[in-house]
Amino acid sequence: MMKFNFPGPGISCSLHNHTTFSDGASTPEEMCHAAKAAGLKIFGISDHWCVPVCDGTDWAEWCMKHEDLEKYINTLLALKSKYDDDDFCLKIGLEVEFYPENIDSVLENLKKYPIDYLIGSVHFTGTFSVDHDIADWDGLTQAEMDDICEKYWCQLEKAAACRDFSFIGHLDLPKKYNLIDNSKYFSHAEKVLDILQKNSGAIELNTAGWFKNCAEQYPADAILKSALKRQIPVVINADAHHHSHINRNFKQAASLLDKLNN
Ligand SMILES: [Zn+2]
Ligand SMILES: [Zn+2]
Repeated sequence: MMKFNFPGPGISCSLHNHTTFSDGASTPEEMCHAAKAAGLKIFGISDHWCVPVCDGTDWAEWCMKHEDLEKYINTLLALKSKYDDDDFCLKIGLEVEFYPENIDSVLENLKKYPIDYLIGSVHFTGTFSVDHDIADWDGLTQAEMDDICEKYWCQLEKAAACRDFSFIGHLDLPKKYNLIDNSKYFSHAEKVLDILQKNSGAIELNTAGWFKNCAEQYPADAILKSALKRQIPVVINADAHHHSHINRNFKQAASLLDKLNN
């Protein structure tokens, strides 16, 4: 898998976007059209790709059907030939569910396709989906919530060590519903950043968090500040599930990064 080179400052780019191939509401063409109209130079589509390691998860409700992968690639290749020009480039990506148990075979299989980049994300701890539905958290004890978060961060450490991801998605995702004390896990985040720094990895500033119960970007200011201090690349993304969101809050994100970098 080719490691994607991040465009320099000033190049408008959006790399974390979902379509109707997984849980997005807009078609790839609607997304692509909107990206070009918005003046983005590099636009990546990265639908959810999950190969579960156990039964009983809800992955099929929000990830691409395995039999659709070829159609997904062909659709994006066709859109590339229609939309790409000197000012615009469509990139073919996937947001890959990271499971230490099967990541090698998952990556090996994806090598067969002309994919430009992969986002490494963790959404599951065991069969529990961290960010799918707030109702999943109903009735959990504090100890159970702590356990989910601990497991999440341990899994993310392993994802950070995987050199095939262009960047790690929404680093502090368990804070989404504002049900946990996210600051308790900053030491875990530091460990993840240590590993990324050592492996030339990268993270994203994911603006979707501003529109969730947590009402802040992923990851938190303190984690971003630490990443910037370590000179870990931070790419601004919207995690868009609708064509009107492809660069949502990018200006605020850029000024936040400027502020935290000083
Ligand atoms: Zn995600
Ligand atoms: Zn996503």
